This record gives sequence, C-alpha cells and structure tokens, in this order.
Amino acid sequence: MGIIEIDYSKCRMSYACVRICPVKAIGVNAEDDFPRIAEDRCIGCGSCILVCNQSAVSHRSDIDKVKMLLGGEQTIVAMLAPEIAAEFGDVTDYRKFVTMIKKLGFHDVCEVSFGVDLVAARYADLFTHFRGKYYISSNCPSVVAFVEKFHPKLVPNLAPFVNPMTAMAKVIRQRYGAQISLVYIGPSVNAMLEAARARDDERTDAVLTFAELRRLFEEYNITESTLEYSGFDPPFGYKGALYPIPQGYLQAGNITEDLLTNRIITTEGRENLIELLRVLDEQMEEVNHHFNVFYREGCAPAEGMTRDISRIVRRAWVVDYTAKRMSQMDWGQWKKDMEEFSGLDLSRTFNADDRRLPAPPESRIREVLKVLGKKEEDDGSSCGNCGYASCRDFAVAVAQGLAKTEMCLTFSLKNRQEYIKTLRQTNEKLAKTQEALKESEKKARLEQQHASEAMETTAAMLQKLPSGVVIVDDKLRIMQSNRRFIEILGREAGEISEVIQGLKGADLKTLIPYPFYNLFSYVLEKDDDVVNRDVHYEERILNVSVFTIRRNKVVGAVVRDMFMPEVRKEEVIRRVSEAINENLELVQKIAFLLGEGASRTEKTLNSIIEFHQNEKKGRTE
Ligand code: SF4
Ligand code: SF4
Repeated sequence: MGIIEIDYSKCRMSYACVRICPVKAIGVNAEDDFPRIAEDRCIGCGSCILVCNQSAVSHRSDIDKVKMLLGGEQTIVAMLAPEIAAEFGDVTDYRKFVTMIKKLGFHDVCEVSFGVDLVAARYADLFTHFRGKYYISSNCPSVVAFVEKFHPKLVPNLAPFVNPMTAMAKVIRQRYGAQISLVYIGPSVNAMLEAARARDDERTDAVLTFAELRRLFEEYNITESTLEYSGFDPPFGYKGALYPIPQGYLQAGNITEDLLTNRIITTEGRENLIELLRVLDEQMEEVNHHFNVFYREGCAPAEGMTRDISRIVRRAWVVDYTAKRMSQMDWGQWKKDMEEFSGLDLSRTFNADDRRLPAPPESRIREVLKVLGKKEEDDGSSCGNCGYASCRDFAVAVAQGLAKTEMCLTFSLKNRQEYIKTLRQTNEKLAKTQEALKESEKKARLEQQHASEAMETTAAMLQKLPSGVVIVDDKLRIMQSNRRFIEILGREAGEISEVIQGLKGADLKTLIPYPFYNLFSYVLEKDDDVVNRDVHYEERILNVSVFTIRRNKVVGAVVRDMFMPEVRKEEVIRRVSEAINENLELVQKIAFLLGEGASRTEKTLNSIIEFHQNEKKGRTE
C-alpha cells in the first residue's frame, strides 16, 4: 500500500507534483489527464504534498491507529524526532510539551536524539577509519529508497546501519520491554517507509507527523497553559538534538569535516541529492568521499510540519534548544546509557529494488522530439519547466508513458498560439459569414415584402376578374378563390365564405358535384389541361378551364357562367369566330364553286360579329 494519495476532486491538473517528483513516480499518460502515482517507484519524499497548492496530495495517516493504541491497555511510548525543536517554537518549555504528549495517553516520551547519538557514534568509526570503501549515509529513508530503486549500483555503498528512529526503537524495547507499542512522532512521512521494513525489536507500530500531533492536541483540547512540567523519559539525548542541521549530525558523532583528513561531504536538498547520485553512479571511484546525505535541506519544512516558518528561525530554535538541554545534562548518566547500548546491534543490509524503466527505442524518442519541435540533439533550448533535466529526458518520459507532450511549456504555448491563430481566422470567417447572412436576410425580407405585396395585388386583381377563379391543392382543398367563383357556387358557398375568407381550406368535393371536381382530379393526376369544358351545374351551364400551376400539386380553374348575358355574347362571338375559322377552308371551296354566294355568306357572318362587338363596346363606354 502506497503512502501518497491524490484526491482527484481537488486536483486542478497543474502537474506541479509530476514536475517536482525526483524519481518520476507520478506520471500522466496519454489517455488520462490526472496525475497517477506509481507506488512501487515512490520514495516517500513528500515533495508532491508540499508543492500541491490545491492540497490534493496527501499521505496515508496512522492517526486512527494511534488513537486506538492510546485507548488500549498496552504501554504506549512516544519517540520524538529531534526536529521538535524546529517545529514547536511556540511551546515555551519542552517540559510542558512532554506533559502535553503524556496527557494524550502516552505512558512515556523518549527522544530519538539518543538514537542519533548512538548511530552517529557508529558513523564516526565508519567515516574516520577508512577500510577501502566510501559510504553514503543511510539515515534518511527517502535517500535509501532512492538508491535502492534508481541507483542500485550504489546499494553496497549505503552505510550498513539502521536509522536513528529504528535504533531508538531497539533501545526503548530493550529498556521498557518487548511488548510495548511505539509511536514515532516526526516531520516526514518517509518514516513510514522505515517502519514498514523494520521487524521484531526494531518495530515502530505507528507514525505520527507533527501536524497530526497538533490536530490531536486540538481535538483533546490540550494546551500548555493548563499543565505542569514533566520531562523526557530516559535515556536522554545529547548532541543528537542537532540532527535537523545536516552538519549537526556529524557534530553529534564528533566527526570533523576536515577537507584533508576525513574526506566527508555533506549534501542536503533534492537537487543536490539527484546530482550526487547521478555522479556517484558514473564516477564513484573518482569521487572518493563519504557522504552525509539528506533529502531535505536542513530545517526546511517537511510535509508533516507547519509551512510558514523560515528555515533560519527553525535553525536558531534547534541550536537554542540543544544548548538548553545540554546545560541541564547529566553527563554521567548519558555516558552510562551510551555504554549500556554500545553493544546494540544496529547493523542493517539493503537490497537493490531496481525500478528504472527500460529505455524506449531511439526511433520513438526522436518521434516525440519531432512532435515537440525539438532537435534530436539537445540544442540548449531546454527550459526545464517540465521537471526533466533536458528535452531528451522529457521525450524519454513521454515515450515511457510517464509524461504528456502538453507538459512541455514551449509545445503548449506554440499549440496555444496556433490555436489562437486558428480561432482568430475562424472568428474572422464567422464575422464575414454573419455579415453575408445579415445581407441575405435583408434581401430575403425585401423579397418577402415584395412577394407579399405582389400576392396582395394578385389577390385584389383576382377579386376583380369577371370570371370565377379557384386554385386547389392535390387534396382538392381550396387554396385561393375569388368572389365571382363563390357567387357562381351559390348562396350556401357565400355563407361559408363569410366564415372562411375565400373558402381557404374548404374541400372542393363538398362544394361542387362529381363531374365538375373530377376535372380537377384529372388535371392533377394527368397534368393535362382541360380547356373550355361545359359543365351543367344547378340548371346552368358553366364553361370551365382547368390548368396545372404546379405539376401534380396545384391546379387552377377559370369558371364562367354561360347564363350571364355578357358571357353569352362573348361566347357567341368566340364560337362564331371558331365556326368561321373552322369553315373558312370549306367556305373558300364553296365560294370557288358558288362564287358570289360564298362571299355573301362571309360578309353576313362578319356583320354579325361586328354588330356584337359594337354592342359590347357601347356597354363598356
Ligand atoms: S500538484 Fe496538485 S493540483 Fe497539481 S496536478 Fe498534482 S495533485 Fe493535481
Ligand atoms: S512522495 Fe516523493 S517520490 Fe513519492 S510521489 Fe511524491 S514526490 Fe514522488
């Protein structure tokens, strides 16, 4: 089970955690935008917790387990990390601080600084009596995990000792009995890694961070002002209290950093550690130094501490606290205790647990570099914003599925610029289209206006026509008809038209008889106009012409009542003209045969036409 978790409901996908992780245990693969932790690669450094400003990253908590232990029957001993001095500057007297912890239910409270004293003494021997091999200190669990998982070649160079927490667990179990439960209270969650690998008398049963200890004080309403003094339980620490300061650890073991004689280098901080392990991996033989190594910079706040206190202030608190403790030390007792535990087995072995990913094929790396717009060889354009040392390292991570190209700032900016450019072009096109749309809308409105004006004119003209006009659809429903048509149909149709203007929508079949409406059906179906067909309707003869307006969809008809006097005269003229035309040839033949007689017949007929035309003209005037 991993010790780091991400709450995806809080995550804003800034990838700050991905960038900071020194071993790239947090990755983002192509299918998923959220960062994912590879537990087997995590070294518990807590950097991701510190860097996430959304508080989306957290660590596993033993707080419930501690509460359960405190509520039980067993003796519970607290082991306090030396960093208490760097964290609880607000507690005016450490003796009150011890009482506060005991008030929670701990039976005894011991200082891990005694464990530091013990382990530092072993380092003094290791570092000052050169046995042909140089060592890397193994006190920091994150450093140990870093070496085991990502620099397995250096595993034999890890100093073969347990760390101060485990050393103290052994001391307390030896003095207080094997059955007690031990709770370590410290600044970092990486103590959980150490606790997880400890067995038997090395065991630590639970780990609490300082932040969690503060939460317990609050929950149980424990404040310094209401309590009396008490003190730490023995054995007491000495210079081990300087452990939060990297050089302080050497001082605890009376190890001098003499450049010429001791060949010891102290390295602190994430970047320096990464650099150191990389160099040692490649050039251990050339470097030839022991290393006193810490993942964090001395007194820098860890993920289990309050964040807003400067390192300088914390350092001063550590020095003040140590000086005060030393001024009250019982030297004789400390020496006796050191003597008592000098034979304690503090040895430890380490195992390579190689978690490096196989190198992707060169072709794939080149492909990614090309997508990023980078040259195959590093051209100095690497900005480091992705969290990788070079563009090539980043391309390798992308190829390994640990990172996404979008994490590259220059790539994202380029993409964004291109996106903005495309967006701008699209916007411009859109604006032009909108303009054109407005224009055609305007035109359409104008055309519609003209059309409706034309419709009105046509409708008005239709009403003025002396003949009946009707237009029907393919269902024989009236779309338009004029007043004359309604008059022709008779009284009943006139009454209907008072309710339905122009009989619009009325079924023609209900208004006229079959022989009449059948002409409409015929034209609709056959698309063959019917011209001048006489139809009997209610004692009258109607002259009907039906014609196609829209093929098989709309037909119109002109209906004339042959009993109307003016129609009758017109019709007589029309039909006589037709008779003249039809018989002209015949007349000519007869004229040829009958001479004058035929000519007279034509004259007579023409005079009848003239008479009727003059009569009509006179009526109109
Ligand atoms: S730093 Fe926090 S917010 Fe950003 S990606 Fe990581 S978990 Fe999400
Ligand atoms: S704790 Fe450290 S190693 Fe683990 S995921 Fe976070 S940053 Fe990476």
